[in-house]
Order: sequence, then structure tokens, then C-alpha cells
Amino acid sequence: MKFLLLFFIFMVLLWQWRHAREQKVTQAKRKTTAAAGVVDMVPCAHCGVHLPANDAVKGSAGVYCSAAHRQAREP
Ligand SMILES: [Zn+2]
Repeated sequence: MKFLLLFFIFMVLLWQWRHAREQKVTQAKRKTTAAAGVVDMVPCAHCGVHLPANDAVKGSAGVYCSAAHRQAREP
């Protein structure tokens, strides 16, 4: 009975150690992803080329890669 209790305590400690380690890895991955500067990509409504969302020209029918394509699609 004594060994069973020791085994149970060992398994709980092992589980807590692995859980804490997994959380550290997950947090490190999130920091790496944020530091890499992940940017949303959007397709141009006229030519279909993908570009960063913050560089896109917004129009009434969608986003465009340039003002020329916006004017070509939305006269
Ligand atoms: Zn375009």
C-alpha cells in the first residue's frame, strides 16, 4: 500500500512537471510568432495577387493592390 501511494505521488508530480513544461513551450512559440511579425495577406479583387493587408488599397467591392486596379474595377 505504501508503494502504491508513493507511485501515485510520483505520477502526480510527473504530470505537473510535464504540464508546466508544455505551457513554457507554448508561450515561447507564441512569442516567436509575434516577434516574426506575422501579417495577414489579402488578395487583390482585380488581379488576385496577395499582399499584406496594411498595404492594400480599400475599395467598396474589396481590397486592391494599387489605386490603378481600384479605378479599373470601380470606375
Ligand atoms: Zn491588383
